Amino acid sequence: KEPTDINALADEYLRLAYHGIRAKDKSFNATLKTDFDDSIGKVNIAAQDIGRVILNLITNAFYAVDEKKKSGAENYEPTVTVSSRKDAEKIEIKVIDNGNGIPEKVLNKIFQPFFTTKPTGQGTGLGLSLSYDIVKAHGGELKVLTYEGTGSSFEIKLPLTK
Ligand code: ADP
Ligand code: MG
Repeated sequence: KEPTDINALADEYLRLAYHGIRAKDKSFNATLKTDFDDSIGKVNIAAQDIGRVILNLITNAFYAVDEKKKSGAENYEPTVTVSSRKDAEKIEIKVIDNGNGIPEKVLNKIFQPFFTTKPTGQGTGLGLSLSYDIVKAHGGELKVLTYEGTGSSFEIKLPLTK
């Protein structure tokens, strides 16, 4: 673990992932929003591991909004938001998308290894299971809230350590 500016980390991954996708797919477009708690400062976390989790969630969020756009949703502005909050015991990072959400029959499988709804070659189904394990290993929690047709919010909670 090392003192990490989690806001800067999340912001960097958001922009890197966005430009990475746009480099491959010129038609991809999304509005990026951030809502960072500026009082967080540096927190002791395993930056590489948590960065990987954030990147997995962001990648999924971009996929979700792109899928909704490609399905022909009208007056649709694909948007991915990353937020952070801190209290005395923990930090919380959210990755929120306004995609189509996760159907109920899929929801209980998304953290299983190799579960994917993506076409062959586009998803390994390992992102969320790996992310879940990483967050657990750091004493935290990874949760999802989803609303069919409206989007999803993945929330990472991490205990603060000295
Ligand atoms: P992969 O991205 O390779 O499919 P993940 O473990 O990252 O594997 O995700 C598993 C599945 O969970 C996805 O295939 C998709 O069905 C669902 N999922 C994950 N994130 C989202 C999201 N933001 N919106 C809608 N569905 C999602
Ligand atoms: Mg994924």
